[in-house]
Amino acid sequence: MIIAIDGPAGSGKSTIARELSRRLGFEKLDTGAMYRAVAFTALDRGIDLDDEAAVDALASAITIRFTPGESGGSITVDDRDVSREIRTPLVDANVSKVSAYPGVRTAMLEPQRAVAQNHDVVAEGRDIGTVVFPDAEVKVFLTADPRVRAQRRVLQRHGGDVADAHALESEVAETLASIERRDALDASRDVAPLVAAPDAVQIDSTAFTIDEVTDQIADLVAQKRGA
Ligand code: C5P
Repeated sequence: MIIAIDGPAGSGKSTIARELSRRLGFEKLDTGAMYRAVAFTALDRGIDLDDEAAVDALASAITIRFTPGESGGSITVDDRDVSREIRTPLVDANVSKVSAYPGVRTAMLEPQRAVAQNHDVVAEGRDIGTVVFPDAEVKVFLTADPRVRAQRRVLQRHGGDVADAHALESEVAETLASIERRDALDASRDVAPLVAAPDAVQIDSTAFTIDEVTDQIADLVAQKRGA
């Protein structure tokens, strides 16, 4: 079975996908991490991100691998662990540029589909239900109020341990601007834009906990299995 979870930045896809895959014993596929890995590697190797042909060539040449494990596992590019490096504000600011390149998307497609060949999978991203796995049995489009998404991101960055939430107000504002910019780019690109599949179930997680959203998706899975 394939469970596709799409949605904008910070909507909780990664956390929900991790929890759901743990509960169901499915593989988890974080496609955003792959685009981040391409962006980070291009920046790291001094490739001009405006040079589409050079970025496409890089995406085709590198080998991206996931190793499951505690707190989400790790991701490598040509055997170098880049799990931390792909989560910086610099990568946040540049990833949507490289992910809009059709050549980059084509290079990511085959490895993404390969994960589902021998496994049940929870895959999360922007185009899972529309392009990567259009036949996924369960499709969810996860949203949340943008300000809540920014707050969650900031809390996550601080390990949920924030003594004075007001002191973080400027960080929340910056994060909000960054995710809104990224969503606008992701939704407006020509190839595989951020959009809900017509047959996706839309869940607004603003007022729900992680467990509640996971329960809702697990119910959809149970319904499918019973059907
Ligand atoms: O999910 P995450 O926020 O880590 O994704 C980072 C970026 O990767 C997105 O903003 C988007 O540009 C790109 N992405 C994509 N297609 C996917 C997953 C992510 O274009 N399926």
